[in-house]
Amino acid sequence: MSAALFIDVQVKESVARDPEIAAKLAEVCPVDIFRAGPGGVEIVQDNLDECVLCQLCLRVAPAGSVKVIKLYDDGAVLGA
Ligand code: SF4
Repeated sequence: MSAALFIDVQVKESVARDPEIAAKLAEVCPVDIFRAGPGGVEIVQDNLDECVLCQLCLRVAPAGSVKVIKLYDDGAVLGA
């Protein structure tokens, strides 16, 4: 599959390895961009461009630990 063109999502490493936050991220994202794996959260690359900018992921993780980056908008960060 092709790489995401419009959206990138980054999760701070210490938070990405937290299984509780990983599970919450996987639960709230309506387009399944987060997958809770054994080592914490994984980003599902193929779903990135489906992001609907709902900000739910920003609300369930510690402030600043999840970044949704709008590649189509010169890398502007959602919610900033
Ligand atoms: S903003 Fe919404 S759709 Fe986009 S990654 Fe976060 S939870 Fe998923």
